[in-house]
Amino acid sequence: MGSVQIVTTILAAAITAVAVWLAVRAVMKMTAVIRLGQPDPERFTDKGTRTTTMLAETAGHTRMLRWSVVGAAHWFVMVAFVVLSLLVLEAYFEVVSPNGGLPVIGHWTIFGLATEIIAVLGLVGILVLMAIRLRNRPTRPGGLSRFTGSTMWQGYFVEWVVLLVLIFGFLIRGFKVATDQFEYPVWATPLSHAIGNGLPAWEAGVSVAALIKIAISMTWLIVISLNVTMGVAWHRFLAFPNIFFKRNPGRAGSGLGALRPMMSQGKPLDFEEADPESDQFGVAQVEQFTWKGLLDFSTCTECGRCQSQCPAWNTGKPLSPKLLVLSLRDHAYAKAPYLLAGGGKDLTGEEKATAAQLAHMDVLALAEAEKPLIGGAEDGGIIDPDVLWSCTTCGACVEQCPVDIEHVDHIVDMRRYQVLIESSFPSEAGVMLRNLENKGNPWGAPPNTREDWTKGLDFEVPRVGEVEDFEYLFWVGCAGAFEDRAKKTTRAVATLLNEAGVKFAILGEGETCTGDPARRIGNEFVFQMLAQQNVETLNEAFDGREKNKRKIVATCPHCFNTLGNEYGQLGGEFEVVHHTQLLAHLVSTGKLTPVQPVDGGVTYHDPCYLGRHNRVFAPPREVLDSSIEGGITEMPRNSERSFCCGAGGARMWMEEKIGKRINVDRVEEAMATGAKTIAVGCPFCSTMLNDGVNGKGAGEQVEVVDVASVLLRSVKPADAAGAKETAPAGS
Ligand code: SF4
Ligand code: SF4
Repeated sequence: MGSVQIVTTILAAAITAVAVWLAVRAVMKMTAVIRLGQPDPERFTDKGTRTTTMLAETAGHTRMLRWSVVGAAHWFVMVAFVVLSLLVLEAYFEVVSPNGGLPVIGHWTIFGLATEIIAVLGLVGILVLMAIRLRNRPTRPGGLSRFTGSTMWQGYFVEWVVLLVLIFGFLIRGFKVATDQFEYPVWATPLSHAIGNGLPAWEAGVSVAALIKIAISMTWLIVISLNVTMGVAWHRFLAFPNIFFKRNPGRAGSGLGALRPMMSQGKPLDFEEADPESDQFGVAQVEQFTWKGLLDFSTCTECGRCQSQCPAWNTGKPLSPKLLVLSLRDHAYAKAPYLLAGGGKDLTGEEKATAAQLAHMDVLALAEAEKPLIGGAEDGGIIDPDVLWSCTTCGACVEQCPVDIEHVDHIVDMRRYQVLIESSFPSEAGVMLRNLENKGNPWGAPPNTREDWTKGLDFEVPRVGEVEDFEYLFWVGCAGAFEDRAKKTTRAVATLLNEAGVKFAILGEGETCTGDPARRIGNEFVFQMLAQQNVETLNEAFDGREKNKRKIVATCPHCFNTLGNEYGQLGGEFEVVHHTQLLAHLVSTGKLTPVQPVDGGVTYHDPCYLGRHNRVFAPPREVLDSSIEGGITEMPRNSERSFCCGAGGARMWMEEKIGKRINVDRVEEAMATGAKTIAVGCPFCSTMLNDGVNGKGAGEQVEVVDVASVLLRSVKPADAAGAKETAPAGS
């Protein structure tokens, strides 16, 4: 060992020792913070599916690749990081001896070839990612950046580290070539040879370059260890457990669909036995999120994909799902010293720690602990109420997140506490909640008018109980029964089912709201009250039938989602289809035949609770394509990336006072396609988009209409025209 190697070896050992010590300390701190969360036993079920999903989403980059160029570049960088870690290990042999290398595999030409290819692709990948970050930097002129609010220096730092580590990897190889100590042939390592041909035959070059490579890598480790909230770096490790523990690991796409039940001590809360002094009602303190919630916050990479798709953020509201997650993360880590010392409030608001436990507490941690989780800037709140109530629960954030963060669950958990314990929510939504409790529908319409939509139809609509042999229970929904526009859809669907010879029956006055708006606003109590009543009614209606014969067809995606995904939590197991699915099936099997193509100029708006939440993308398009001359014209934001209409998350019942109206933004996008008809599959989308069209003064030129009505125009043109005239007025 020469004198240069003695120095390089000592320096490499010293910086590595410091880095490893700090990293161990950081991992212990992070683990301690995540363990502060509440239990969540369901995350440990079905480990096989979890493992498969985790491997597919990480090694296969199944979610990232939807952002094709970024996804591909990130995949190469990820592979380079994993495989080229071996070359960082090899550098420890090279600081000791210029001709050192990894034992065994370090002598294989195939290893030289593979690492050369991966390093080149990694180099290209990181340059692409750097260019994308620069092009989208928040300070660039014009447009919203997905990186607004991200800690930009951290992103640049991580990218430069990757770039420099790759460059110094090639320099090490180059010096080996220049000093004739490189054992791989030119054909396997052409770039290394080309670089080596331009370098001087400096004996110490290999060890010095190896030391610099180790120093850069360890500086990275030291920096991230001193910044445990640096998700842009830590996600390289945390993404694996976060994806493994995602909810519904076997479900295609993201973990949307059912909302998680309200949990206390790791179990769904039973309102009949719940005690506000010992049971948690939603989330009022950051430590009341589950450990998976705290893992979510720690894992955020600050990539801003969620933000770029969020309808609230894109229309000037203060909500960004990324910034919400970052605020919760920073608060959790800042409050952690106080909590880890035994601090915290019990459910009656009493301090748990003794004075002695808090005696030497950091004042900043104590100050952080005093901040309310929900509160305005004047109260030092972590999440502003306007942020909390701007969410439409559209799920675009969850759908886009590459590390499976579950924003919607966290938002609704915070809403639950505000509604159930603080009675603090936008006052205008109170009318809706009262109507649900008193009349069983959000409009407060008299329940005995639920069947009024059947008047004037030229066939009988049977009720459950009057007929036994119905195949489908037609769940009409509150909008479908009481709202004028939606009643036309209800009539169109009933007419088409009748035409196709489908045996169906309705509950009539036996139906009440599924409880979706109550649940999304956070009123789990009202949701459970309505849901239990409906489950009882439905179980009675299907008495004696097996699950696959307990079929329901619903026109409202919110009903469809609640009946199919959430009633199972209360003992109601049904086979639920959306009307567009059933109609697509009836068309494809020849039971319905479109005879007169409807004029073109039609676009389709994906309802969030049909598309993203339940992945029903194709059936409505199939129905439209069968009925329309030339098929539909897609909007730029469609399918998984569809843009919300603004009504979900009970936003339908709240005023939209901040920023641009979401429905107007969506209508502008629809109208920009040149469409004269905006087809929808949801009564709320229908109302919102129709309001948007009228708001633009385009009511005469553009029509908003349900997919079923479009099909009816093609199957029974005369009936469709008649239905327009004869639909009875609603309440
Ligand atoms: S659910 Fe939709 S509105 Fe709510 S934060 Fe996510 S993207 Fe934004
Ligand atoms: S998409 Fe996920 S990882 Fe990216 S900023 Fe949003 S929450 Fe964080």
